[in-house]
Amino acid sequence: MYEIVGGSGANSGLIIGEKGYFLIDAKMTPQSAKEMLAAIARITQLPIQAVILTHSDGDHVNGLPGLPEGVTVISHENTYQEMKQAITEGPVLNYLPCITYKQELLLRSGKIAVHLLHFGPGHTSGDSVVYLPEEKVAFLGDLIFIGREPLIHRQKGGNSFGVVKILKEVLKLEATSFIHGHGEVIDRFELQKAIADLEARQTQVKTLVDQGKSLDEIKAALNVKDAPEVAGRPRRPSLVEIIYLELTEKK
Ligand SMILES: [Zn+2]
Repeated sequence: MYEIVGGSGANSGLIIGEKGYFLIDAKMTPQSAKEMLAAIARITQLPIQAVILTHSDGDHVNGLPGLPEGVTVISHENTYQEMKQAITEGPVLNYLPCITYKQELLLRSGKIAVHLLHFGPGHTSGDSVVYLPEEKVAFLGDLIFIGREPLIHRQKGGNSFGVVKILKEVLKLEATSFIHGHGEVIDRFELQKAIADLEARQTQVKTLVDQGKSLDEIKAALNVKDAPEVAGRPRRPSLVEIIYLELTEKK
């Protein structure tokens, strides 16, 4: 099992089974995906069995056309829906997920068992945790960020309280190593700390909301500045703003 770093886009994962290998996420460009396949070919002669998408973000899926035509693409059904809505033309259209699931999906390659688990909306509406119980490893996609603020895609149905709930479910798994999209492999201690940090932020915002503070007042009180806008990319509200909207939105 490997974490594949480098190239463009998020880290990918590689699980070498007995009949073939599973790839987790597909880099951001077909060129990077091809370089990844070339690197994999140096360590296994087995064919690709399937590619698993942890979620629908471009830095995890736009490299799909660099993979063999007709490859089996697997994701949560909400990731499929998000991709189907967002991708209406271009080569990625031929790589939309063809196997989807709602809560849990078990994949096998000989004796190697790979569990896909969905615990509700978090980073997006369709995040998958890829869990290998024998190896005690879980791939978390972008459900966790270390050393920077968690990124929650509200426009894709993501939710910060959902992230806490999911990561607490992940802690119940018998995993000791966690691989994620944008950083080094972490252990249980770092996972617990990330959960505690996010919960602390939620509590800070909730305290101020309960005092009747406005979003601008809360941002000022917590010294939060909006990130500069990037052309061609949807605005990325700060985590504080996301939490504020979650706490104040009318259900
Ligand atoms: Zn992402």
